[in-house]
Amino acid sequence: MSKLQSLRGFNDVLPAQAALFRRVFTTAADVAARYGYGEIRLPLLEATTLFKRAVGEVTDVIEKEMYSFDDRDGMSVSLRPELTAGVVRAGIEHGLLHNQQQRFWYAGPAFRHERPQAGRYRQFHQVGVEAYGMVGPDIDAEVIAFSQRFLTSLGIGGLKLEINSLGGSEARAHYRAALIEYLSHFESDLDEDSRRRLHSNPLRVLDSKVPRTREIVAGAPQLANHLEDESRAHFDGWRQALEDLGIAYEINPQLVRGLDYYTRGVFEWTTTELGSQGTVLAGGRYDNLVAQLGGSPSPAVGWASGVERLVLLLEKQQAAAAVDAPEVYFCTLGEAAERRARTLAETLRNAMPTLRLLLNAGGGKLKSQLGRAEKSGARLTLVLGEAELAQGAVQVKSTPPAAGTDALLPFEALPAGLAILLR
Ligand code: ATP
Ligand code: MG
Repeated sequence: MSKLQSLRGFNDVLPAQAALFRRVFTTAADVAARYGYGEIRLPLLEATTLFKRAVGEVTDVIEKEMYSFDDRDGMSVSLRPELTAGVVRAGIEHGLLHNQQQRFWYAGPAFRHERPQAGRYRQFHQVGVEAYGMVGPDIDAEVIAFSQRFLTSLGIGGLKLEINSLGGSEARAHYRAALIEYLSHFESDLDEDSRRRLHSNPLRVLDSKVPRTREIVAGAPQLANHLEDESRAHFDGWRQALEDLGIAYEINPQLVRGLDYYTRGVFEWTTTELGSQGTVLAGGRYDNLVAQLGGSPSPAVGWASGVERLVLLLEKQQAAAAVDAPEVYFCTLGEAAERRARTLAETLRNAMPTLRLLLNAGGGKLKSQLGRAEKSGARLTLVLGEAELAQGAVQVKSTPPAAGTDALLPFEALPAGLAILLR
């Protein structure tokens, strides 16, 4: 029989790493509450047409990365490659976007059939925010302040914020023409994807990662020089707000986002520590998407961040602390002591709401129990045997054992005693 294995690019997250994932999710939830963003949870599977209409047909995501299949009723459905399209679909469906302001955040898996490598997987997780009904640039600055607080609350450092403006529809039409004109001179030198996109989606060529195409793109006309007055004022207002907030940024004229729906301000937080998977959080304004998906027009801005990349940075930057290690390992010897320890452990968990206590199970000699205690990473070991039981007390030792640290604590003194010892 062949060995069963997870699919390529689909990862198991084991406890030590899961603690870091959870830290990312709880930090997002905490920061969201502090900024007044409500959580939204969406289906993993949606109609394929949703993503085609939202993300854009001529994008990598739609052309080559979607997990699409016909369900048993013959309907084409897709695992979500990102969450913004679903948020807009839900917002329209529940009447939340018509003439209203909304602030949402989300967290969950997304799926793209890409070539797996460090920081790039086929199932990955995103944390993101979306704000609707506000033209900005105040709200554009707010979502950046939120993103910065999210990253700094995680303790991730060394990131760079890059921003750019893609302008409104009119400016983009002008720019598109100028870009096609420029790129046409180099048509035969462009990579195959870029050549195909030259006329269908030339802005995407700016985002190419092929070296020769990048060289050509470096000399391309810049969007910044084609902005219409309104978009320029919006961009200036955004920059001013960032400066007021003391948030350092760089303008990157080549910055365009991978998905089609962006307008005006776009941004990315990047790191140099993850090779070519350097973007850890990215977003921008997408004023046309709500109408494009059938809602009444509503301005919108948001960002999404790759949780696996944040976890990789946490592992690199913060010598992976075993966050979940128990503080106390409880050894028991003999049936009577075992039964007493079971109720004592629950009493301690009641009395000390944050205590992380691991109660020995499956018996074992004292030596092997002490071995488990050490392996668990607990700082203290409790021992309850027949002698201790007779005295109504528990032996407390430091793990690993150290001279002069043993103490005998009566049952009723345990919560207070442990609290002092664990301080
Ligand atoms: P990239 O340029 O790295 O492919 P993207 O532009 O396709 O990113 P977005 O669609 O903007 O990415 O998604 C937001 C964030 O989600 C990215 O900045 C990244 O951190 C993360 N992300 C995207 N694709 C993957 C993936 N396949 N595996 C892990 N994280 C990903
Ligand atoms: Mg991508």
